[in-house]
Amino acid sequence: MTVTVRFAPSPTGHIHIGNSRPALFNWLFARKEGGRFILRFDDTDLERSKQEYAESIETDLHWLGIEPDVIERQSARVARYDEAAQKLKDAGLLYPCYETPDELERRRSRQRALGRPPVYDRAGLKQGDDERAAFENEGRKAHWRFVLPNHDGDPFETRRTDVSWTDLCRGDQTVDLASLSDPVLIRADGTYLYTLPSIVDDIDMGVSHVIRGEDHVANTGVQIAIFEALGASVPAFGHHNLLTTSDGEGLSKRKGALSIGSLRDEGLEPMSVASLAVLTGTSQAVEPLPNMGSLIAKFDLTNVSRSSAKFDPEELKSLNARLVHELPFAAVEARLSQMGIGGGAEFWEIVRGNCELVTDALALWKVVTGPVEGRVEEEDREFVAQAKALLPEGEVTEETWGAWTSALKSETGRKGRGLFMPLRRVLTGMDHGPDMKAMLPFIGRQNILDRLP
Ligand code: GLU
Repeated sequence: MTVTVRFAPSPTGHIHIGNSRPALFNWLFARKEGGRFILRFDDTDLERSKQEYAESIETDLHWLGIEPDVIERQSARVARYDEAAQKLKDAGLLYPCYETPDELERRRSRQRALGRPPVYDRAGLKQGDDERAAFENEGRKAHWRFVLPNHDGDPFETRRTDVSWTDLCRGDQTVDLASLSDPVLIRADGTYLYTLPSIVDDIDMGVSHVIRGEDHVANTGVQIAIFEALGASVPAFGHHNLLTTSDGEGLSKRKGALSIGSLRDEGLEPMSVASLAVLTGTSQAVEPLPNMGSLIAKFDLTNVSRSSAKFDPEELKSLNARLVHELPFAAVEARLSQMGIGGGAEFWEIVRGNCELVTDALALWKVVTGPVEGRVEEEDREFVAQAKALLPEGEVTEETWGAWTSALKSETGRKGRGLFMPLRRVLTGMDHGPDMKAMLPFIGRQNILDRLP
């Protein structure tokens, strides 16, 4: 069987780094296993789902290096969900309920007050046709619940019923179906909640492995029961820990700043975002990997830890810097030329060690082309004047800096920082930066003379 996975976001907002984790896990799993990756938009909530969000998710995935084999939309498949719902109704496994949300809440409070778990008592399943007709006449509309198989024939006598699976991330897992309420599959307005469409899609699309966040573990118990009720084989499941910031805060609150779009706009490299999203909360060290191939080699669902996956957003910057310091010219050539940066591979190799972001190269290119506001401390005025007089004749090459500073050293007796720093400041306007020996030929003779007062 071909390995088939899916990433199934609801297009009700932009995706953030936390959502990129299941996207990347599925993508890496598919690549590792030679399988297929489906991007499935869970857009049954027509009011909140927006085309604009679906498009931005596609753009963000592409930027991260994820190229879906197929794109599906649940909104286009409602007829299939209707067929599955009918099948369950015909089998007596989907029943109408007429309680309002308020009535349900009151019932749950009563159960809690009595120290009982707030599990739905299947009141709707007891009702006969007359009672149902009376509710309909009142103008009530039914929502529909699936009868969990947690009984021996009498659904009002439930018994412990363990659904078990070997989770790809968490090992052996068990959910007791008697501890859960019969799930609502269809809302009173006739629309589907996520549970049933997801199963029908997974069956129809041949999904072999469902990899998603650990917030879905209880759902999995329910969904396995529904897969079986529909006579389908059950896929393998893997539930990974969820990314949170260091203080344990979920990412939804920080969505704006940590959205994939804003990280891209900040100039971060997709591979530093992907490396952090995948390696945090695993037994592997978090390090910036240069390409998907090397991330695939590191990736293993059994390395995902059981505790939470905490990260400090500041970590992204340092990971990015480490990645940029090693980026080959070919990886940045197009972007550099778009920014108007010249100097070819030689210039990039000189400056990349001073860049946290590729875009930082622009400020360093401006050091070459000018204008530069050079700085001269009062006590260095005379020294800088001497420097102008001692600049070696002829073309500026990689040898010039050495020859120039030794001549200055003999003439002035200065050495170390006192010798180099005034020159760096007056020529670049900065206290730190790339190697002056290498920068000097790019700055060129005329600029050097112009910048020395
Ligand atoms: N739309 C669901 C979510 O975003 C998908 C869960 C799943 O992968 O089954 O939580």
